[in-house]
Amino acid sequence: MTMQTLPDSSGSDHAEPGRRFAGVGVSPGRVIGSILLMPQAVSEPAAGERLAEGISPEEASADLRAAAKAVQADLTERSIGASGTGREVLEATALMANDPMLITAAVKLITNGASAQRAIWDAAASVAEMLHNLGGYMAERAMDVLDVRRRIVAELRGVAAPGIPYSDMPFILVSEDLAPADTATLDPAKVLALVTSSGGPQSHTAIIARSLGLPAVVAAVGVDGLANGTEVFVDGAAGTVLVDPGADEAALAAAWEATSAALAVFDGTGRLADGHLVPLLSNVGGAQDAVNAAAAGAQGVGLLRTEFCFLERDAEPTLDEQVDAYRGVFDAFPGKKVVIRTLDAGADKPLPFLTDASEPNPALGVRGYRTDFTSPGVLVRQLQAIARAADGSEADVWVMAPMISTAEEAEHFAGLCTTAGLPTTGVMVEVPSAALTAASILEHVDFVSLGTNDLTQYAMAADRQLGPLAALNTPWQPAVLQLIRLTVAGSRDEGHDKPVGVCGEAAADPALAVVLVGLGVSTLSMTARALAAVAAVLGSVTLPEAQQLAALALTAHSAADARRIVRDKLPILDQLGL
Ligand code: PEP
Ligand code: MG
Repeated sequence: MTMQTLPDSSGSDHAEPGRRFAGVGVSPGRVIGSILLMPQAVSEPAAGERLAEGISPEEASADLRAAAKAVQADLTERSIGASGTGREVLEATALMANDPMLITAAVKLITNGASAQRAIWDAAASVAEMLHNLGGYMAERAMDVLDVRRRIVAELRGVAAPGIPYSDMPFILVSEDLAPADTATLDPAKVLALVTSSGGPQSHTAIIARSLGLPAVVAAVGVDGLANGTEVFVDGAAGTVLVDPGADEAALAAAWEATSAALAVFDGTGRLADGHLVPLLSNVGGAQDAVNAAAAGAQGVGLLRTEFCFLERDAEPTLDEQVDAYRGVFDAFPGKKVVIRTLDAGADKPLPFLTDASEPNPALGVRGYRTDFTSPGVLVRQLQAIARAADGSEADVWVMAPMISTAEEAEHFAGLCTTAGLPTTGVMVEVPSAALTAASILEHVDFVSLGTNDLTQYAMAADRQLGPLAALNTPWQPAVLQLIRLTVAGSRDEGHDKPVGVCGEAAADPALAVVLVGLGVSTLSMTARALAAVAAVLGSVTLPEAQQLAALALTAHSAADARRIVRDKLPILDQLGL
């Protein structure tokens, strides 16, 4: 039931040949394929739902057992084809699907008259609560129980299972948006491209797509109305999705396949045409990412998103768990810089042990460094873990805090790092107030790193996850470029000259990378997949040329104008299909 089969969509009202959806291109690439829609979330069965007339408790119990077995078989089959974290997630969930304690509890409720769907829903809630109360490893399993109950209810209803759909054929994934946790089961060998109807250019769908090297279009309104199996052409640079493509699109897709292979190789040194060096670092979410980034030639790590090591964790990771996770990343880069960011929980990256899911306005709430106000101790323990992991490692470990708004916060963070014995301290500039006060902030810390994803969302007051605001939510906005210029100016104030890096998605846009270097940014950090393309385009300009392009972008009338003006002056982009 949960396996999708790419049905023929010829009868669909929505699949009009030649219909074009315009969205925002967030990861380049041109492909043709059939779509699979991300299934709708599974709704809770009605409270107190009873067995339907004519269904005996024995029949309902048998249906439930059959559904649980089917879910287990599906997850087991998928785990065999998966690897790494994806495999572990699937194996753990498969085991839980037919857990005797869960099924026995549900059957007991059915015997008392509850419907099969309601019974599994309530039984899973009790089991999840019990596991949660046990804490530690058992508490982690509570999430698996809740996932399993959604799958069993979907099976009982005869609808597709929640989460990334599964198919034995490659497909284009169409969804409203993707959460970071969805990635664990996203198989890049099966998914040809990502398209969302919502989601902004800075959303996690965009970040995921770039890190997997998948073409992606976000904010393509209406695309989720297409039927499963519809054949489309996705252009991740132009931001378009075309139904029922023809020979021209087939030629473009074939040409992309040929050039993308050439764009996969980075020689390990970022430099401009005149030899000006721009170290190109990588953004990583854990040890495996770091190993891949090192293999791709990254000159270090510009952003280790530590919260990605602990997504979905119910309890604070122990010191030893943290040391292991960080050490794995440091070990991939002996002798190189690794910038580790303290937990950036909240908003689109909730961590159940640290953030409050009921906040009315999470992006403006207690997130990032601010969780130290409400959960004191977690940050200090994380810094101790980082110091322990750094001790004896050959990496040059730099530490930074996310969501810093004031110089006092920077000073406080620097003090905590000194106490922990961490010598190189910085902060992210992702709130406009930090850009405007960069000089004062840099009196307390050694470096800053521009988080252009959040800097854009806060400068434009536009939620980075919202598709309808995608045109506002681009770092090409002249206002965002001005904030970057001010940050660089602040870094050179007061007699100091401290490094300013960029680790937001702006760094992975090859044309914008040129502008950032022209504005005075010293290092760029991006998904490993983008290194070669960014290096190729940087290598086509000199520093004075980059500075001229930056000046043009800064004074452009709009984000679209800035992008067009700069792209027109970089012919290499067209040659490489970027
Ligand atoms: C950013 O905001 O640009 C950034 C790099 O942090 P994240 O995307 O993890 O919020
Ligand atoms: Mg951020």
